[in-house]
Amino acid sequence: MPSTHTEFSFRTAHDCGSARVGWFTTPHGEVETPAFMPVATHGVVRGLSMEEVRAAGGQMLLANAYHLYLRPGDMMIRALGGLHAFTRWNGPMLTDSGGFQVFSLAKLRTVTEEGVTFRSHLDGSMHEYTPEHVMRIERNIGADVIMQLDELIAGQAEFADSCAAMERSLRWLDRCRVEFDRIGREGRAPTADHLGADDLAPPPQTLFPIVQGGIHAELRRASARGILERGDWAGVAIGGLSVGEAKPDLHAMLEVCDAELPRRVPRYLMGVGFPDDLIEGVRRGIDLFDCVAPTRMGRDGTVFTPDGKVQVRKSSHRTDRRPLVEGCDCACCAQYDRAYLRHLFASDEMLGLRLVALHNVAFLNGIMRDARRALVAGEFATWSADWLARYRG
Ligand SMILES: [Zn+2]
Repeated sequence: MPSTHTEFSFRTAHDCGSARVGWFTTPHGEVETPAFMPVATHGVVRGLSMEEVRAAGGQMLLANAYHLYLRPGDMMIRALGGLHAFTRWNGPMLTDSGGFQVFSLAKLRTVTEEGVTFRSHLDGSMHEYTPEHVMRIERNIGADVIMQLDELIAGQAEFADSCAAMERSLRWLDRCRVEFDRIGREGRAPTADHLGADDLAPPPQTLFPIVQGGIHAELRRASARGILERGDWAGVAIGGLSVGEAKPDLHAMLEVCDAELPRRVPRYLMGVGFPDDLIEGVRRGIDLFDCVAPTRMGRDGTVFTPDGKVQVRKSSHRTDRRPLVEGCDCACCAQYDRAYLRHLFASDEMLGLRLVALHNVAFLNGIMRDARRALVAGEFATWSADWLARYRG
C-alpha cells in the first residue's frame, strides 16, 4: 500500500446500524468520531482563540487553502513553520482545496480540463488553480489531511452536467495523487525568497478524495467506485451536498454513499453541520463534519439550542436571566444570561458575538460527544430519535 498515509489509521466500535464510534489517528493526535470540525477558514475560528476552541471540545480544525494561498500565501505559512506552528493549533488539521471558494467567490473564473483560472476576490490578480498547483499549495500549508481539487456545480444540476463534473473530478484526483506522491518523494520546491528555514521535506499528510455526483444515485455510485478503484485512501469525503438540494435528496445520497464506501475508513461529509444534519449524518455512517454555521450564525445572534434556533436579540430576552441553554457546560452558558447577551448585541459589543459563536461551537461538539456516548451505551437509536423530535418540535 502507498506510504502516503502510514501515520493515519482508523478503528471503530459500537456500531448501531450505519452509525459507529471511531478513532481517527493523525500525526497530530487522535480524533474521536463522530466529530464536528470547527472551521478556521483563515487559520482562525472567527472570533475565538485556539484555547477557547479547544475548551469548547474542538478536536480537529478545517482551514481553507484558497484563502491561505491568497493571504498570507502558502510559501509564507511554510516559512513560518507550517499551519500548526503558525496558528498555534497543535491538534489535527485539514485543508479544503478551496474549490468551493474558487467556484463561488472568485471573479471571472474559467474552467477547463487543465484547471480553473480566476481573479482573486481580494485584489483582482489572476491565478491558476490546477490539481497539481493545489497539491503544491496544500503541501506547503502542511495540514494533516488535504483535499483534492474537484469541480463543483449547482446542487440540483441535471444528470449530464453532474456526470461531466464527477468524471472530471476523478481525472483531477488522478493528477492530485501523482503530484501528491511526487512531492512526497522529491520534496517541496525551495522558497524563492528564502523567507526562513527552508524545509523541503513535506510533513506526513494524507490526501482525501471527494465523492461527487449531485443528487443522482447512479453518479454517486460511479464516483465512489471510481475512487476506490484508484487505490487505498485513509479517508473519503462526500462533497457537493447542502448546496440547495432538498433534505430527502441529501439523505438519499448519504445512503447511497454509505452502501458503497468501505467502513474501515472515516467518511467526511463536507460543509454540512446544522444540529439535525449532524445526527442524520451519523445515522447514515458519517464520521466527520464541518460547517461555518455556528460561528457565522453566532455573529448574527442566532443560537443553537436543543429546542431549535433562538435569536438572542429578541426583546423577550431583555429580562431573561437564563443561560442560552440550561445545563450547557460552555464558557458562555456557565457565566452569562440571555439578558446580558442581548444587551451586548444591542450595544454592538464584540463580546456578544464571540460568546454566542463559542456556545454554538461547543453545542455542536457536545452533540457529537453525546452521540458517541449514546453509541457506547447502545442507546443511539432512541437517543437520536428523541433528540431530533425535541429539536424539530
Ligand atoms: Zn452554551
